Parts: sequence; structure tokens; C-alpha cells
Amino acid sequence: MDYEIVIGLEVHLQLNTKSKVFCGCSTDFGSAPNTQVCPVCLGFPGSLPVLNRRALELGAKVSIALNCQIAEKIRFDRKNYFYPDLPKGYQISQFDQPLAQHGKLSIIVGNSRGRSLQKIVDKTEKKIRIRRVHLEEDTGKLFHQKDSSLIDFNRCGIPLLEIVSEPDMNSPEEAYLYLTALKSILEYLDVSDCNMEEASLRCDANISLRKKADKKLGTKTEIKNMNSFKGVKAALEYETKRQMGLLEDGKRIIQETRLYNTEKGVTEPMRSKEEAHDYRYFPEPDLAPFNFEKSFLKSIEKNMPELPEHKKNRFIKDYQLSGYDAGIIVSDKNTADYFEKCASLYSNPKTIANWLIGDVFAYMKANNVSIKDLNLKESYLSGMLRMIDSGVITGKVAKTLLIEIIQTGKDPGKLIKEKGLEQISDVKLLEAATDQVIAENPKSAEDFKNGKDNAIMFLVGKVMQKTKGRADPNKVNEILRNKLKGDA
Ligand code: ADP
Ligand code: MG
Ligand code: ZN
Repeated sequence: MDYEIVIGLEVHLQLNTKSKVFCGCSTDFGSAPNTQVCPVCLGFPGSLPVLNRRALELGAKVSIALNCQIAEKIRFDRKNYFYPDLPKGYQISQFDQPLAQHGKLSIIVGNSRGRSLQKIVDKTEKKIRIRRVHLEEDTGKLFHQKDSSLIDFNRCGIPLLEIVSEPDMNSPEEAYLYLTALKSILEYLDVSDCNMEEASLRCDANISLRKKADKKLGTKTEIKNMNSFKGVKAALEYETKRQMGLLEDGKRIIQETRLYNTEKGVTEPMRSKEEAHDYRYFPEPDLAPFNFEKSFLKSIEKNMPELPEHKKNRFIKDYQLSGYDAGIIVSDKNTADYFEKCASLYSNPKTIANWLIGDVFAYMKANNVSIKDLNLKESYLSGMLRMIDSGVITGKVAKTLLIEIIQTGKDPGKLIKEKGLEQISDVKLLEAATDQVIAENPKSAEDFKNGKDNAIMFLVGKVMQKTKGRADPNKVNEILRNKLKGDA
């Protein structure tokens, strides 16, 4: 049957403030357990919370970047429940008056049509609505051992921003694109490490199915415990199949929370709605409601960095990049900065983009390094490109030279001299190499003479091989043609 997938995501983000959200304790990651605690974050009776101004600022920054309406009045609420990682017995959160609401985030989705060979992929923009953004505090961390459990309260009170989407995504792929786009914005804003493995970014995925004609949403399940964006996608793919199987068997979906089992690649039940908590939210009496000062918001707006979408459009306009290339380059802020620096040093931005997206990315991927840790100065990459243009080296040699530069950190000019990589422009040398190749490959030479024009490419390749890529392929092509024509 024809079902529509409906997905809404809840993202929890640890804000990178120096101190916690309601006390002065440090937020340093990886300190010895229970060394970054105080009466406030341990919930001692009589201790009082004080809101961290910076956390609010970062929350507002994210809200503005996600095109949200910021609340007139800010209020905190207590979310009451008992769990050992929550020493106060309640979490300070926001209930019906969140920091911000009604935002949106664009993703670029590809709709493919046609059959495999002539598949056409249309890229269209899709807006995912953001329901709310609110500020709350993180809980402690439990470590379960064989017959006991340990608690580290260092994480208690670290500021968390919860970003809740509307159920606007219609495939696991769209959920993945949403997370990628969101992370990119958050990185531009520099508000969090956004590291899912270290849990500074966590995602709960809500998913349901409904018949295409149905207006009403289906019963959803909520999936937790994914530790990467790919994991979220995989969990949603599994859950789609599971729900589909049930519905097709005429069974109903139980509203429940399920845990993703990374090893097995399946979701498993955790708790059903029947066991769900009643949090008995009520206004936090120790933090008075307040209004944002207009000047506070104005100054945040004024200091907003350029965001990926804007940068992408600017790159298309200023550097004549394709939408595709610009999209890839701006998705990571460091890559975008790297590109712009190169573009200020070298006049053909399209060439820079090609090298970045091609050889540089390939190297980064193969060696698992980010552009920030890559040993390739902007001046070296652009210097190398200039040397291709002026004929000092061939494009072919440049490919290996690039790796040398990265691995040695040396100036390309020096490396070219050291390794003797200059382009061979001496016609006598090129002719000698060409003669050799013709003598060694009589069949191809014959083929060319008999009208098989393609054979020339094979011979050019052989000459390039013989010269270790240092011959100018255009010149070689010309020499070959002249020689073989002369023979004919
Ligand atoms: P809960 O009360 O269980 O937390 P909410 O209505 O607050 O549920 O929504 C939480 C998240 O679940 C939101 O991101 C929302 O978009 C998504 N969501 C709500 N209903 C559905 C549904 N039927 N299918 C898929 N996602 C849903
Ligand atoms: Mg929920
Ligand atoms: Zn504290």
C-alpha cells in the first residue's frame, strides 16, 4: 500500500558556554567525575539558580538563525520526575513559553525521476518548520556496572538548547539532510561542538506512517540512542520497514519510545505511553519571568555571522560557482573560509572549487582529516594552480605534487625543484619519447592511421607515462598527429 512517512526531530544541543546555565561551575569536558559541581547543580536545599546570560545569548542567536519569533516574555518551568541522574528531582526547562517558536530551516532535496540510466535528479528547496527552541539544563551521567551504578554530576546543569521540528520530513534521507543543514548553521554560529559521539548533540526521532490520502497523522514512535546522523537515518529506515510491516498485516502501531541498537541495526521497545511520565510542569519560582531588552536582541542580530544559505548565494554570484559546488563548499565553515582565502590569491575560483571538491576532499576523506587539520596552506594550493597555468608543471604532475605538499608541508616551488617535476617543453625530448612510444606500440599507431582517432589518446597516455606526467599532453598530441600523418 502507499504510505507516507512522517518524521519530526527533537535535537538537544549542549551550548559551549564556559560555565553552567544556572551556577558558576565549569563546563569543561572530560574532567574527573564530580569535580565540577556545587550546591546549585547538586540541588541542595536552599540554593538558588542564576541564569547564565551567555547561554541565553547563544539560544537567541540560534533562534534568530532559524528564523524563529523570539518570545516577548521568557519563563522557566520545572519538569518534575525522579531519576538518579537528576539530583533536584526536577529539571529546569521551558514549557508553554519557550524562548522562540515558528521558525524554519531549508533543506535541498533531490527528487529523482526516470530510470537508472537516464535518471534526472531535480534539486528543490524544502522548508522544514521549527516548532520551538527552548533552553534547559542537562542531567548527570550514569555508568552502569555489573552490580552497581556510578553517577557523574559534572554534566548536571550544562546548558541545553532543545530544537523541535514540526513533522515535516517525509523520508529518512530528509531527516539526514535536516540534521546536516542544522549542524552547518550551528557550526557557523559557533554555539556548540555539535558532536554526536560525545553527545554534545543528541537527536530523538519521531516517526509515523499514514496512508497517502489520510489527513490525520498516524501513531508515532520515538527513537532514541543514535550516535551519528547516519545512525539516525539507519534507525528511521529500519523503523519505516517495521511499521509498514505491522500496518500491512492489519496491526496497529503502539505509541512508544524505542532504543536504536547500533550493533544489530534495529529499534527495540523502551517504554510505552502508558508508562510515560506526567511531568507536572509548573513555573520555576526561583527564576522570575523577564522580557528581552530590545537592545540585547539588536546587538545579537548585529553580530550574527553570515550563514550558509547567504554565503552560498554570494559564492554563486561573486565567484560564479555552480549551486552544487557552492553548496558543498559552504556546508562547512572552515572549507568556505579556506576557499575564500584561496580565491583572494588566485584568479580562477572555479578551478579552486574543482581542486577542493576533487583531489583535496579525496585526500581528506582517505586520511580522515578535516580541512582545519590539513597541512595545505592556501598560498601553496593557489601557488600550485598558478604554476599549472604558466606551464611550469602539468595538471597531471600537480595531482601528485598536491599530495607531496600536504605530506611534507613544503612550498610547491621548492618541491618541484627538488623532485625535478617541471613540465618538459623541450620539443626534442618530447619527440624522442613520442618516437619510442610509436615504436613500442605499432598496433595503435596503425589503428590511428587507419582512421581510429581514439587510438591517439592511448599513445598520448603512454608518452605521459614515460615522462612521469611531465609532458604537455596537448603538445604530445600535436607531435603524435604530425608524425603519424607524416608516415601515412
Ligand atoms: P511528545 O509529546 O510525544 O513529545 P510532540 O507532539 O511534542 O510529542 O512532538 C514531539 C516531536 O514529534 C516533534 O518533533 C513533532 O514534530 C514530532 N511528531 C509529533 N507527532 C508526530 C507524528 N504523528 N509522526 C511523526 N512525528 C511526530
Ligand atoms: Mg518528545
Ligand atoms: Zn554548579
